[in-house]
Parts: sequence; structure tokens; C-alpha cells
Amino acid sequence: MLPFARVAIIGLGLIGSSIARAVRQEMPTVRLSGHDADPAVRARATAIDLLHDIADTPGAAVLDADLVILCVPVGAMASVAEQIAADLPADAIVSDVGSSKAGIAAALAAALPGQTVVPAHPVAGTENSGPDAGFATLFHGRWCILTPAGDADPAAVMRVSTFWEKLGADIEIMDARHHDLVLAVTSHLPHLIAYTIVGTASDLEEVTQGEVIKYSAGGFRDFTRIAASDPTMWRDVFLSNKEAVLEMLQRFSEDLTALQRAIRWGDGDALFDLFTRTRAIRRSIIEQGQDDARTDFGRSHD
Ligand code: NAP
Repeated sequence: MLPFARVAIIGLGLIGSSIARAVRQEMPTVRLSGHDADPAVRARATAIDLLHDIADTPGAAVLDADLVILCVPVGAMASVAEQIAADLPADAIVSDVGSSKAGIAAALAAALPGQTVVPAHPVAGTENSGPDAGFATLFHGRWCILTPAGDADPAAVMRVSTFWEKLGADIEIMDARHHDLVLAVTSHLPHLIAYTIVGTASDLEEVTQGEVIKYSAGGFRDFTRIAASDPTMWRDVFLSNKEAVLEMLQRFSEDLTALQRAIRWGDGDALFDLFTRTRAIRRSIIEQGQDDARTDFGRSHD
């Protein structure tokens, strides 16, 4: 028994198009409709037959949906919710995939009074954007965190849970504020650090751009993958998860200062102890199936 029969996806980029592909593969009888603000994206989605119906407005896309998933940048969630409000069937469940949750939950509740809302965040992605970047297996073995309000209908939460399980995800249910704190350290801060390192390297005057690229295998290139992530998406994530990110950034700055001191005073034991602890974390990530166990992410060294 499928949890939904008619799914509408608003925003047909990496995440929206991955959901569409996965639904077609795992729940082929589900009718898919959708919309994207960008006419070029709508044209591309039509060309690759991403959905059964691609509408010119968000309202038209949701008219007979029983699940609506907002897959737009975090900063656009509120306005999309307002645009679909008048056309939403009363019994449709609204969800989203935003990378921060407390702000979106508040915005959706304000824009859609009386509607059942079950916010979600699939912790899966790549540095690429757009409808061609998506793939059906993106969510396999990845966590999808649901952050329903305390008084949310348990049956609705169960249906959204089943939907994501069918796409291959494992489900975790969390308070929205706790989600934002956890993701600030596991995702948002690492992106901020990568953006900083890549920015710093490109600003250095005594090292040429050519040298930065030529010797990037020394570690730099692994940061560039993250720092190539979508600028709109990440601008919105930092603006919406401001408090949690600033809190984690404060702790990070203190730890960085301690490392600076250890290097200045030649405290090799402090450095060695930290690097030993961090190596163990990498091993745990691999043991839990959250990354490729192959050396250097499986890059070919032929
Ligand atoms: P994406 O590839 O850039 O796709 C977003 C799409 O939404 C774009 O085609 C964009 O059009 C469209 N859009 C923007 N504003 C819109 C509006 N008001 N109405 C309709 N469509 C609109 O981004 P994504 O990576 O799929 O991210 C989508 C959401 O997933 C974000 O909330 C993000 O936080 C979340 N998320 C991302 C990842 C990841 O790794 N990428 C992982 C988990 C969750 P334009 O081209 O005109 O901007």
C-alpha cells in the first residue's frame, strides 16, 4: 500500500528531480506533478520527462495532490507556501526538504494555517544543482530527518516516513531546533570552513592561483568540492540557521585558538591527541555506511 497517490514537487533542482526519479522507480503508479520558477528548468524537466505534469504556476501543480514537497531554496519556502495556499486540497500533506528546519516550520505554519505540515530534511546531496544533477539512488542508505510539530497528526508523520523509506532513506524524528544545532556542526560549519579556506587560498598574493590548483591534492581539493556547492542554497542556510551556526562557530574559533597555541608552543602531544581522536571519527563514519571505505574516496591513482 503506497502512502500517497499524487505527489507535487515545487522546485525541480538536485533534490526535487532526485525525488521525482526515485518515485518513478520505486512507486511507478504515483502521479507526479510539479513546477519550477525558472522557465528553462521547466523546459528541461519536460524534455527529460521528469514528471507527468509540469505546471506554469505552483498553484496549478498542487491542485489535486495528496503530498506536496517544497524543494526550493530555504529563503523561498515562505513565498512558495503563500503561492500554493489557495489551491491546496484541504487534506493534502505539505512537506519540504530544507536544510534548516525551525524557521521553515514557522513560515509554513504561518502561511498554511490548518494544513497538515510535516517538515523533512534528507541528509543527502552533492555539490551539483539543477534537474540534470538528480539521480534516483541519492537517498539510499541516507538519513531523512522529520521535524513535525509536537501536536502533528501521527498518521500524517507515518505516511511521510513511509514515503521516504520507500525512496531508500532511514528515518529519524527530531525537534526542529535540535535538528538545526546538529546540522550546524555536521553540515553548515564544514561548508563555512570550506568556503573560507578556498576563499583564503584564492586571495593569497604570494601564492599564485596556478600553484593553488597544481598542488591541490595536498588536501585543498577536498575542500573545493564542498565550496562548489550552490551559492543561493548556502546563503539561505546561513541566514536561516543563524543562531546555531554562530554558536558552533564560537566553539570552533575557541578550538582553533587552542590549536594555534599548541603549534606556537610546540605542544606536539596536544596535536597528536586531537589527530588520533579525529581519525577514529572517520573510521566510525565508514563503519556506519555513511561514506566510501576506499582510500582517498576511491579516486584512481593509476
Ligand atoms: P537546486 O538544484 O538549486 O534547485 C532548486 C530549484 O528551485 C531551482 O531550479 C530554482 O530555480 C527553483 N526555485 C527557486 N525559487 C523558486 C520558487 N520561488 N518557486 C519555484 N521554484 C523555485 O537546489 P537543491 O540542491 O535541489 O536544493 C533545494 C532544497 O533542498 C533547498 O532548500 C536545500 O536547502 C535542500 N537540500 C539540499 C541538499 C543539497 O545537498 N543540495 C541536501 C538536502 C536538502 P532557479 O534556478 O531559478 O533558482
